[in-house]
Amino acid sequence: MKWYKKLHWQIIIALFLGLIWGIIASVAGLTHFTVEWIKPVGTIFITLLELIAIPLVLASLIVGVTNLNDMTKLSRMGGKTVAIYLVTTMLAISIGLTVVNTFQPGKTLPEETRQSLMDSYSQNVDESDQSVKEFKERTPMDFLVDIVPANFFNATSDNSNMLQVVFLAILIGIGLVNIPAKKGKPLINFFTSLNEVIIKIVDFIMKIAPYGVFALIAAVIVELAGDDLAKALDLLAALGWYVLVVVLGLFIHVMVVYSSLFKFFSQMKLRDFFRALQPAILLGFSTSSSAATLPVTMERVEHNVGVDEEVASFVLPVGATINMDGTSLYQAVAAVFIAQALGMDLGLFEQLSIVLTATLASVGAAGVPGAGIIMLVIVLQTVNVPVEGIALIVGVDRILDMCRTAVNITGDAAVSVAVAHTEGLLGEMHFDD
Ligand code: ASP
Repeated sequence: MKWYKKLHWQIIIALFLGLIWGIIASVAGLTHFTVEWIKPVGTIFITLLELIAIPLVLASLIVGVTNLNDMTKLSRMGGKTVAIYLVTTMLAISIGLTVVNTFQPGKTLPEETRQSLMDSYSQNVDESDQSVKEFKERTPMDFLVDIVPANFFNATSDNSNMLQVVFLAILIGIGLVNIPAKKGKPLINFFTSLNEVIIKIVDFIMKIAPYGVFALIAAVIVELAGDDLAKALDLLAALGWYVLVVVLGLFIHVMVVYSSLFKFFSQMKLRDFFRALQPAILLGFSTSSSAATLPVTMERVEHNVGVDEEVASFVLPVGATINMDGTSLYQAVAAVFIAQALGMDLGLFEQLSIVLTATLASVGAAGVPGAGIIMLVIVLQTVNVPVEGIALIVGVDRILDMCRTAVNITGDAAVSVAVAHTEGLLGEMHFDD
C-alpha cells in the first residue's frame, strides 16, 4: 500500500492541512467561514463516534463476559486494572511535580505578562462550576452508588454514564452464562452480531476521519487565534516555558512509565505498540476527547494491538472514565506553575496533597475537552492557591488538552496490554494499514 493511503498518514496530513488552513483563515479574515462551514464537519465526525460508544461497550462487554470461562477472572481483572491505573496516575503526577519544580516555569513569567493575563482571562474562570461542586460533595461511597443504575434506559442514554453501562453489561453477561446455554444463545447471538455491526460502522466512520480531523484542527486554530494570529502567538511565546514543561512531563511519562510497564508485564515494544495504536492517539489529539475516541481505541487495541476482547471491552471504557494520566500530570504542573507565578512556595506537604487531589480530580474529570482545567479548581483549593490563577493558563489550555488526551488514551491502551498479558489474553499484533 502506498504510504499516503495509510490511515495514520492521512490523519497526519489532515492535521497539517487543518493547521495551515487555520493560520490562513485567521490572517485572511475567514474565521467566520471556518466556524460556520468547516467546523460542522468535525462536529459530525465526533458525534458519530459518540453515537456508537454505548452500543459498542454494551455489546462487546456482554460478548466478552460470556466468553470468559472462569468468572473469578473478572474480579481479578477488575482489581488489577484499578490498581495499575492508580499506580500509573500517581507516577504521572510525581513526574509532573518533578519537572515543574526542576524548571520552575512560573518564576520566569514577567510581572507585566502575569498582570495582562489575569486581566484578559479572569472572566473565563468559573469557580462555581456544577461538576466541581458535585464532585466536592461526594463521599467515596457515592462513587460506588453512582455506578449502579436505577434504570436501564437512563443508564444507556447518556455517554457520561459509561461506568453504569459497564456495570449493566457485566450483569447481563453474568446472567447469560448462568442460564441454560440453549436459552442464552439468542441473546448472545444478538449482541455478537450487534458488536460486529458497530465495528463495521467504526470502519465507515474512520473513512471520514481525515476530513473530520482537518475540520477540527482548523476550527481549534481559528478559535484560538480569532482574527489576530500575532496576539495568539505572543500568548504562546509568553507561556512557552510552561507549555514545554507540561509536554516534557508527558513525554517522560510515556517513555519511562509505559515502557517499564511493558518490560514488567509483557514483551511488547513501545514502538510496535505506537504503530498499532497510532490512529487512536492521533484522534485523541485532534478531538481532545478520550470518550469520543473510545470506539476507535477499542477497535485498534483489539484488532491491531492484539488485546483480547474480554480484556479490552472492560479495561478501556473504565479507563476512558477514570484513568487520565495526562490530565493528572498536567494538573500537577499547572497548580505548581500558578503558585510559582503568584509568588507562593509550596512545601512538601502541599506537594503531597497535590498527588492525592490530582489523582481524585483526574478520576472525576470527564473524557471531554476542557474537563481537566475545570477539575484543576479542586487541586488549587486544596493547596490554598487562588483559583483566579487559572486565568494565567486558560489561553493555551486547548493545545495542552490535545496533548494530555493523547496520553490519556495511550495510558488506557498500555494498561490493557499489561492486564491482557498477565491473564494470558494477549495475542498477535496486526499492522494492517
Ligand atoms: N480532554 C481530556 C480527555 O478527554 C480531559 C482533560 O480535559 O484533561 O481525556
